[in-house]
Amino acid sequence: MSKILAVLYPDPVDGYPPAYARDSIPAVTDYPDGQTLPSPTAVDFTPGELLGSVSGELGLRKFLDAGGHELVVTSDKDGPDSVFERELPSADVVISQPFWPGYLDAARIEKAQNLKLVITAGIGSDHVDLDAAMRRGITVAEVTYSNSISVAEHAIMLILDLVRNFVPSHEWVTAERGWNIADSVSRSYDLEGMDVGVLAAGRIGVALMKRLAPFGVHLHYHDRRRLPADVERELGLVFHESVESMAKNIDVLSIHAPLTNETHHLFDDELLGKMRRGSYIVNTARAEIMDRDAVVRALHTGQLAGYAGDVWYPQPPEADHPWRTMPHNAMTPHISGTSLSAQARYAAGTREILESFLDNAPIRDEYLIVEGGALAGTGAKSYSTDGSASPGSSGHSANAVTADRKCLSPAFD
Ligand code: NAD
Repeated sequence: MSKILAVLYPDPVDGYPPAYARDSIPAVTDYPDGQTLPSPTAVDFTPGELLGSVSGELGLRKFLDAGGHELVVTSDKDGPDSVFERELPSADVVISQPFWPGYLDAARIEKAQNLKLVITAGIGSDHVDLDAAMRRGITVAEVTYSNSISVAEHAIMLILDLVRNFVPSHEWVTAERGWNIADSVSRSYDLEGMDVGVLAAGRIGVALMKRLAPFGVHLHYHDRRRLPADVERELGLVFHESVESMAKNIDVLSIHAPLTNETHHLFDDELLGKMRRGSYIVNTARAEIMDRDAVVRALHTGQLAGYAGDVWYPQPPEADHPWRTMPHNAMTPHISGTSLSAQARYAAGTREILESFLDNAPIRDEYLIVEGGALAGTGAKSYSTDGSASPGSSGHSANAVTADRKCLSPAFD
């Protein structure tokens, strides 16, 4: 019998289940690079259900009960008195989502003496101290590709929201009960013809550029690895050797790089100051790629015309986090990778990983980040150039829990 501890975000304020807007979701049959979709033996949910909150239990309850395993689900994750920290010492498996990360720093991993497997239901395991996991021989796995397209779609939406001034225009007719056309359009432009830059051309970055091309924009990108020439030709991409070169020559930037030592606080006063006045930034990667207060300053001076995104630090952010109230923002909670559509895929992938683990069978290589004391699978290919995890960023304390994050370096696959 195994004990599985799942940290999931709280249920909707009006209760669970919510009233769904639609009766079904389209079946996605393949990923762009040929990777196959999750293939557990079965799932005990209907795709389109809310699975990522506590009562959704990622659809795992029936399966785990039937196998005689113990499933503990909580959203209480931060601080020494949290349910997460109390249950951790006896857990064999921990599951959490980047949207509501169960931070697993070295101290927590030390307390988790039974821990054998950490699953990220989604993509991005930077909430786990991977070096500590390697030292302890803990396997870390995530559901690669499950929400990449979800994020690319979200980035498209945020770019249009900012450039066309959607949020304030919406507020004029809803909150203000007005019809203020001049107020709404005095910051509204067409995206067509603009220079749009994409930082990092990985799974999400490439998917975004494919979706942006039909808008008639001039596409620029920077990645530490250049895309094949035929991809550049097909999409009309301008490659920049440096972030600075790209930043100086664009009107809109969308960020899709991982958080690493190289990207931590990359966009500070200096780099933001090199951008065209009135640039827009969309960030659905990781918040700490930005210098938090430099973003606020740039919005106040008009150096940035808008900032949108769904990633914050810490998560959840404090009530007085300045990004909640800074001008010209289109911020949301961390939602881009947890649409109901994405949840169906990563819940199925989580079950697939659990089935492998409980059967003592190998976990799919593309889901592996760490195994047997080293980076493995996607972790070895995408998260590092030299095969080692590099230590991370601010170590900010989220409600007394230090998120001793390990920043890795994904590579283009
Ligand atoms: P990926 O591994 O497919 O691509 C990452 C790309 O970043 C690679 O092409 C790599 O070469 C490039 N890169 C790494 N370091 C770089 C650097 N210093 N400068 C320039 N390029 C660099 O990853 P992905 O699946 O496209 O995801 C990108 C990021 O998006 C992830 O790191 C993750 O944190 C974030 N993400 C967010 C959500 C969300 O819900 N908001 C969901 C999934 C992933």
